Amino acid sequence: MMRLFDTRARSLEPLVAGRTVRLYVCGITPYDSTHLGHAFTYVAFDTLVRYLEHLGHRVRYVRNVTDVDDDILRKARELDLDYTLLAAREVARFEDGLAALGCRQPDASPRASQVIPAIRQAVSGLLERGVAYALDDGRVYFDVGAAPGFGAFSGLDREQMHRQFAEKGGDPEATGKRDPLDFLLWQPSADDEPSWDSPWGPGRPGWHIECSVMAQEELGATIDIHGGGSDLVFPHHEAEVVQAESLTRQAPFSRFWLHTGMVGLEDVKMSKSLGNLVFASDLRERYEADAVRRYLLSHHYRRSWDHDEGDLADAAAAVKRWREAAGNDDERPDLAEAFHAAMNDDLDTPGAVRALDEAAAAGAGRTLRALAPVLGLSLTS
Ligand SMILES: [Zn+2]
Repeated sequence: MMRLFDTRARSLEPLVAGRTVRLYVCGITPYDSTHLGHAFTYVAFDTLVRYLEHLGHRVRYVRNVTDVDDDILRKARELDLDYTLLAAREVARFEDGLAALGCRQPDASPRASQVIPAIRQAVSGLLERGVAYALDDGRVYFDVGAAPGFGAFSGLDREQMHRQFAEKGGDPEATGKRDPLDFLLWQPSADDEPSWDSPWGPGRPGWHIECSVMAQEELGATIDIHGGGSDLVFPHHEAEVVQAESLTRQAPFSRFWLHTGMVGLEDVKMSKSLGNLVFASDLRERYEADAVRRYLLSHHYRRSWDHDEGDLADAAAAVKRWREAAGNDDERPDLAEAFHAAMNDDLDTPGAVRALDEAAAAGAGRTLRALAPVLGLSLTS
């Protein structure tokens, strides 16, 4: 049986799931080019989908597009471009980039701008439940003091929460709030921002409510796996949990929470603000999809790591050996078993890659042909 590390339980737990696994992964805010950190996250979840299917599950995979939030609206203003056009352009680039790494399209890619009525309904529901409050100026906040357990998901103390909330786009200093950590569910739009009518005045939703509504619209009140980068644990996923469970009065909102590590460059996390980005598209100009993909999967999805050109060249050389060996007809059931043992152990793709390296060294072409596609490698150039 497969075990996965659940962030909420802080332990490895057996994945008990029905035939269909309902998976929601936080997608991008489409306002700028996607970098290697994004590629790592989405290749990891694409590989999880492939492996679950290999085990006989059907996966319903939903990955949203955050097309209404502060970042994209600010960028659209800078470029003097309609935010929907900016989103369309960047989503197309993002999807092309992932397709070039052998990632398949999710079953659904909902956009925040397309689920506004459901978001309004969720905000109304939270107000009715007494865990949210509306201010006279059109802002609606989630009341973290009214919902027990805020902070339990991330395990952060108040000071850490306060700091991360401020760093990641929260408004701890805003006036009128009951608690600095209360987060926006609805807010008035600036004059040049998109705006929708609501009982609290014209405006737009907050980021966190967008995701929990899209997840529940597509997958129901309880989903099997919710994923995203580890930078989303707080406040994004903490907020998603507390608002979804307050609204439906059903817990858990998601049975598993999976978080991917960050990709850095020379010990510094890649980020747009630091400008130290490596793009998967640049690597693809020099290396084939199989090589880049094997390079990404040689890192465990939960660990943070640094980009290394030498490791990438090694991955390309290894893929060449896999292809040469794939023509053989030998089989190595023991290595197939090692592959499955690794993948069952919290999606240990580095272990799975090692098993296939051994299969290549042993000339076990049949084993390679059967299992490389489970990692999303085609073995064809
Ligand atoms: Zn999200």
